[in-house]
Amino acid sequence: MEIQELQGHIRELASLPETRSPVVSCYLRVEGGRLRHRRTFMNRVEELRRSFAGEAAELFEEALEPIERFLSGELHRGSKGVAVFSRAGRQPFFLALQFYVPLPTWIAADTLPNIYHLVELKDTYWRFVVLVCSQDTARIVSVNLGAVTLDLLRERPELRQRVGREWTKEHFRKHRTTRIQQFVGDSVKALSEVMTAGSYDHLILAGDPKMTAMVRRALPSHVAARLSGVIRKPGRTGAQDVVAESIASFVEAENRESQATAEELQRKLRTGGLAVAGTRSSFFALKRGQVETLVMDAEYSPRPGWVCRGCRVERTAEQWPKKCPACGSNSLEDLNIREAMLRLAEQRGCQVELVRDSATLRRLGGVGCLLRFRPGRGGKTRQQDRTRPERGWRGTARIPAPV
Ligand SMILES: [Zn+2]
Repeated sequence: MEIQELQGHIRELASLPETRSPVVSCYLRVEGGRLRHRRTFMNRVEELRRSFAGEAAELFEEALEPIERFLSGELHRGSKGVAVFSRAGRQPFFLALQFYVPLPTWIAADTLPNIYHLVELKDTYWRFVVLVCSQDTARIVSVNLGAVTLDLLRERPELRQRVGREWTKEHFRKHRTTRIQQFVGDSVKALSEVMTAGSYDHLILAGDPKMTAMVRRALPSHVAARLSGVIRKPGRTGAQDVVAESIASFVEAENRESQATAEELQRKLRTGGLAVAGTRSSFFALKRGQVETLVMDAEYSPRPGWVCRGCRVERTAEQWPKKCPACGSNSLEDLNIREAMLRLAEQRGCQVELVRDSATLRRLGGVGCLLRFRPGRGGKTRQQDRTRPERGWRGTARIPAPV
C-alpha cells in the first residue's frame, strides 16, 4: 500500500460521522495467513461483549460478523499486520487493511474508530530506498510501508582473467579499479533516478563496507542529504535480510528526526515562536485549525475529557461538571483525548509526529503543536485563551480567521 492510500483511509476513519452503534477497531498481528494471537483476540472480544447490553450488544455482534469472515478467509499469506474497522446499524461501515509490517494485537469498541496505531504506522514506516552492494552486485530496493515495491539488480561485468598473458598485475589492478569506479558511478546514477522518480526522502546504504564507503563518496549532494543510515555487512547479502535490518535502521533515523521536532517545539516556546504545549492548549489549537504539526509522545495518555451527548461540546477539563455548561444536559461521556486530537489533526491534514523517549516533550506535558499562524491579535487573544475553557467552544467563532 502506498502512503497516500493509507493517508486517505486514515482521513476517512477520522471523518466517520458518529452514530449510536459501536465501531469495533481491531489491530492484529498475523502470520502465514493466520491470526497470531487468536486467544488474546477471543478473550478481548469476550470482555467487550460483556460491556454491552440490549440493542448495543446486538449491534456489537453484528459488527463482529464481517470481521470474523475477513479473518477466516481473506488474509494474504505475506501480511504481518491487519487493521479492521466495523460498524453495524443504520450507517454500516467496514474497512480492512493489510500490511507487510506487524501491528500490535489491540481491540476496542467505541462510538468512533480508534486510529492511533494507523497514525503510528504512517509516522514510522515511511518510505525509503536501500542500496545493497557487494563487490560485484548492486541492488536497489525501494520499500513502502514495509513492502518491497521495486528491486533492481545490477551486476558488474566479469573481468577477463588476462593476468600473466598480455597484462601485468599492475595493469590488471588499475583496470579493475577503473571498472569498480565505473560500476559505482553507474549504480549511483540509477539510485538517483529511482529516488527522484519516486520522491523518496530517505536512503539506506547496506552491504560490503568498502563498497558502501565508495558509494557514499560518489553520492551527489541532493542524494547524500537524504542518507539515513549505513548497514555494514561484508560479502554478498540477500535483499530480504537487508530489508528487515534497514527497517530497523530507518525507524532509528525516524526517532532521531522526531526528537529533533520536540527540540524545535521547545525552542519555539522559549523564543515566543509559533508553538503551544500541553493538553488544553494543543486541543484548542487543533480545534481552531492553527496546527501545522502535532507533536505527541508515543506514551501520551492524558486523563479523559468529556463530551456532551446533547450538544456534542467537547472539553479536556480534568473535573467533570454535574451538567453540560453549554446546554444543561447531564448526559456526559468520557472523551478519549488522544484519539480526539489525532482525529482533528488527520481531518485537517496536519503533520503528526510521534516521539519516543524525549524527556523534553514529557516536560512539556507530552504533547504540543507547531502552529501555522498565531491564535489572534495582541493581548486580547491571551485573555480569550485563558477564559475559553470555562466558557465552552462557542467563543472560538470569534477568533479571526487566518489570512
Ligand atoms: Zn451540552
